[in-house]
Amino acid sequence: MKLQSRKSASVSELKRNQRHTDRDRAPPMRSAFPQLEQLRIELDFADRTGRAPSPQMHILFPPARAFFRFACPCSECDGEFDLSLAVSALVNSATSSKRSSNRTVSDNLVCEGVRLRNQANSRPCPIAVKIRLDASPEKSA
Ligand SMILES: [Zn+2]
Repeated sequence: MKLQSRKSASVSELKRNQRHTDRDRAPPMRSAFPQLEQLRIELDFADRTGRAPSPQMHILFPPARAFFRFACPCSECDGEFDLSLAVSALVNSATSSKRSSNRTVSDNLVCEGVRLRNQANSRPCPIAVKIRLDASPEKSA
């Protein structure tokens, strides 16, 4: 097996490409979670060693891809945060309730990537993220 075709592709590049492919394959929100009108995802980062990256907010509407993996904001890092489990937990709890009220869930995740993977002094990424998910159920008119 030869893997020399793209010598310049780094691990993080490959991961990024893979993530894009996976996103393209993800079903739209309207078929994955037809009961949701919108899903708001807030990512609030913390860096144990320095300045925290800016927070992010994503709002997913029914046509959006149901894809919940986000790259670590540290450019040298190949890590990602996978929110899929938190999202399913949230949606399950939202749909088990008869009342159509918003549901929120919070969680803390730590990046499992490695910075500067190709260098001798590679070290674990210090980024952690506090996530907040807010689901608005479909309004039953
Ligand atoms: Zn990271």
